[in-house]
Amino acid sequence: MLRQMDRLEVAGKRVLVRLDLNVPLKEGKVRDDTRVREAAPTVRALAERGAIVVACSHLGRAKGKPDPALSLAPVAPVLAQYVGRAVRFVPDTADATARQAVATARPGDVLLLENLRFDAGEESNSPELCRKLAALADLYVNDAFGTAHRAHASTTGVAKLFAAPSAGPLMARELRALGKVRDNPERPFVAVVGGAKVSDKLATLKALAAKADTLVLVGGMANTFLLAKGIGIGTSLAEPDLAEAAREIMATATERGVAVLLPTDVVVASDLESPGRTVGVGEVGANDRIFDIGPASRAAIAAVVTGARTVFWNGPAGVFEKPAFAEGTLAIARALADSGAFSVVGGGESVAAVQQAGLAAKLSHVSTGGGASLEFLAGDVLPGVAVLEER
Ligand code: ADP
Ligand code: MG
Repeated sequence: MLRQMDRLEVAGKRVLVRLDLNVPLKEGKVRDDTRVREAAPTVRALAERGAIVVACSHLGRAKGKPDPALSLAPVAPVLAQYVGRAVRFVPDTADATARQAVATARPGDVLLLENLRFDAGEESNSPELCRKLAALADLYVNDAFGTAHRAHASTTGVAKLFAAPSAGPLMARELRALGKVRDNPERPFVAVVGGAKVSDKLATLKALAAKADTLVLVGGMANTFLLAKGIGIGTSLAEPDLAEAAREIMATATERGVAVLLPTDVVVASDLESPGRTVGVGEVGANDRIFDIGPASRAAIAAVVTGARTVFWNGPAGVFEKPAFAEGTLAIARALADSGAFSVVGGGESVAAVQQAGLAAKLSHVSTGGGASLEFLAGDVLPGVAVLEER
């Protein structure tokens, strides 16, 4: 059983809360504040219940040392605005300045620590950083699902130093939605997997090939499957080394009675700046590159999604960043929105596509954790989740 934040007695207590405030910055400003907006209710709830909120997060790929361009300082005022309370930024991750800031804070105050990855101990899960972080608080909450697949100091090591490490509401919501997909999907269960590469998603594909009723393969990833079936793909993105793995996935599906749906027509061009042409999958020229699925494939996917009771989607169907090659991805987003099924989308680019299309509110769940959601569906125990389970 997952321990949950709402069961903690937080009044007057210092609560270390691991958030996902990993937002894109541009010229020192937050360019997309979605994650801050989503984290804010958790912070507000704790503050309103009289906690001293000690918020922490990583931002970007800081290399274990301070990098002013990746400071969380610009995030503090944005968080303050959404929480409706002052947020005191602490220019220190877990040392003396952080200790002093916490020591002088009062119930209802909100502090935001500096980027966890400014300390090399975060990614190495160093006992020293875990102890320092734990010394800042009486209670621990993790609401950062997107990093729960990483055994870092702030996600696992520090949690083990508290008696009742608990999941925040965002984490709990992710686990509920993805848990339903993984553990008891209402059938038919259709999984749509696309994106760039098979290698990123191998374990998840294997799991879905054994579990879904229909596995729909699209995007650059589908090219490797076409190749594995001996179909020419010109100069399209593919991973020939993974053709054997692709054949095994298709064999697993056949054994388990899982239907595999591959594109039957595709949109090709010589490069991304040229207009696309629709051709059948057997007719891709030697110099063609597949950049999207074609109209017949879109219709076939829409039909199978329409009949589904559960749909999981990860990975765009084409290079949707270019409007000329976005139709397949948009068609999938619309099919999910219209399906009436329990619909879950995960993955950075897929979620961006759903938001671009203005359809996020019509899906049952939009997962913020790309890698974490895939690992969860593959059946892996996420280290950052395991530590929140009641022992
Ligand atoms: P997600 O972030 O949703 O998990 P991925 O990171 O796996 O998705 O892949 C997203 C990328 O895949 C997009 O940037 C898109 O341009 C690219 N992509 C999709 N289809 C193709 C294709 N046919 N050829 C090249 N790139 C593709
Ligand atoms: Mg991605």
